[in-house]
Amino acid sequence: MQQVYKATDVGLVRKGNEDNLVVFDTVYAVADGMGGEAAGEIASQMLVDTIKEKLAGRDNIGERELCQAVQDANMAIRHYVWEHPACEGMGTTATLLHIDEHCCRAFWAHVGDSRLYLLRGGAETLEQITRDHSYVEDLVREGTITHEEAKRHPQRNMLTRAVGVMEELVVDSGQLTIHDGDIFLLATDGLMKHVEDTAITHILRENAENPAQALLNAALAAGGRDNITVVVVSLT
Ligand code: CA
Repeated sequence: MQQVYKATDVGLVRKGNEDNLVVFDTVYAVADGMGGEAAGEIASQMLVDTIKEKLAGRDNIGERELCQAVQDANMAIRHYVWEHPACEGMGTTATLLHIDEHCCRAFWAHVGDSRLYLLRGGAETLEQITRDHSYVEDLVREGTITHEEAKRHPQRNMLTRAVGVMEELVVDSGQLTIHDGDIFLLATDGLMKHVEDTAITHILRENAENPAQALLNAALAAGGRDNITVVVVSLT
């Protein structure tokens, strides 16, 4: 069985919420729009609308179908930009998860710096499944800076990949076998900026009535500058 919790909030500083989320059938996604308030909101909305349009009611969703939905959203946003040249540069992150009907396998697709995490059974810590497509992530991988330095780096918000920015888009994807008790977390960076992995793990283990809301509240309590969006999928 899958229990799903979701929460999104504008945060304490921004005027608009450029984040979006979608939860339907057994498809879950978060999106973090960029390109100025209205454009960012439009981009992340177009992403979730396209996912719903392409995948709702479909059988046999796998990596390929998730990636194609992201590619379709990329083209939809590019078309919008062609018609609205002032919006050039608008785009969105996309992190998608699908659990198959037998709760045996999880499929994911991903672009940008939102994240998919897995908290498994007796594991002490979260496992980050997706890799950030960001400038600072590349620097960390090269060994130029540490993870801690990345969090404070002046260019920490610079993405190397986003949906809607260019015609050519590479979408990461993967799949894994599910174990009883697995908890998946999808989140935009508004959560990770303020809440450490250890605190996230603790909150997910707490059995809060709504763990997504509990995580969001933790980000707000820590200052919550950015928009915050969280989806938690708990498998029992
Ligand atoms: Ca953000």
